Amino acid sequence: GLPSSPPPTLAKRRPSRKIRVGKVEVGGDAPVSVQSMTTTVTADVNSTLQQIAELTAAGCDIVRVACPSPDDAEALPAIAQKSQIPVIADIHFQPKYVYAAIDAGCAAVRVNPGNIRKFDDQVKQIAQAAKDAGVSLRIGVNAGSLDKRLLEKYGKATPEALVESAVWEASLFEEHDFHDFKISVKHNDPVVMVQAYEMLAERGDWPLHLGVTEAGPAFQGTIKSAVAFGSLLSRGIGDTIRVSLSAPPVEEIKVGTQILQSLNLRPRKLEIVSCPSCGRAQVDVYKLADEVTAGLEGMEVPLRVAVMGCVVNGPGEAREADLGVASGNGKGQIFVKGEVIKTVPESQIVETLIDEAMRIAEEMEPV
Ligand code: SF4
Repeated sequence: GLPSSPPPTLAKRRPSRKIRVGKVEVGGDAPVSVQSMTTTVTADVNSTLQQIAELTAAGCDIVRVACPSPDDAEALPAIAQKSQIPVIADIHFQPKYVYAAIDAGCAAVRVNPGNIRKFDDQVKQIAQAAKDAGVSLRIGVNAGSLDKRLLEKYGKATPEALVESAVWEASLFEEHDFHDFKISVKHNDPVVMVQAYEMLAERGDWPLHLGVTEAGPAFQGTIKSAVAFGSLLSRGIGDTIRVSLSAPPVEEIKVGTQILQSLNLRPRKLEIVSCPSCGRAQVDVYKLADEVTAGLEGMEVPLRVAVMGCVVNGPGEAREADLGVASGNGKGQIFVKGEVIKTVPESQIVETLIDEAMRIAEEMEPV
């Protein structure tokens, strides 16, 4: 096996209290978890469970399902029971669905303070029901549904407004001695979002759920989320993350996982170290990198594979990786752990790398 000392991270985690979302711990020293949300109609139990299975396979730790109608509430027991990962019910307007979700065996319930004005008299009951069932909550403050009173006070959803809303809502539960909740203060602007979480992190030890809401289509949303989460996580802020993309939820999991791996907050698996190519390239680097990536997809070992276009930086990078190729003159020098093991014609580079990767992987332990 490999040496097991953990790789360095950029900062110590902010101390937060630990809560449970079913079998997954959030906060404290628990690994930062990755979440997504189903896009199926929740009442369509089979489709929803199918999507949850795909998310689970992609590495999702916790899944959230919307619950806007009585039919959806009725579907929750079957979904909560059959899902392999904890299910959070997302409830916006109706306290009765909060109880339905708790009774259904959901691991947690997300509530939105801005939408539950009538909620005040319900807080005590909800806190009691959640406590009795061992269910946690997320207080999900969102720029788009901020309390009217705060919108009037601040003019718009500023970081201060988001934080004031969150702290106030948290206090409502804390007054009833309920502490098993995490908080999110989402905004579609990464700058506002980062400022809000920075402020919130100073105000209490709540575990924090990070999200840039309505981040956009895959490319823009990926960048916005990576920048915002990176800024916070690199300083130890954030206990669970959800990347919001206008794209299939499995993509959100891939992006979230990659963000955590980039920061060494989750063990890296397959990593392709490929060069951007330039005027010196003697091989089609994009094609080679794509083919190697496709050929090695799904590998569960922390393998670094270098794909380099020429012999300038090629051999150096290829040597640093577990496995690599430096191309030139229609040939590829194949490196394993810093040693050239063979030189093959360009047409055999991909298959040789894949063969070698499989061989090395067999000697490694899965992460
Ligand atoms: Fe250019 Fe060679 Fe560097 Fe690739 S490895 S970017 S081809 S100099």
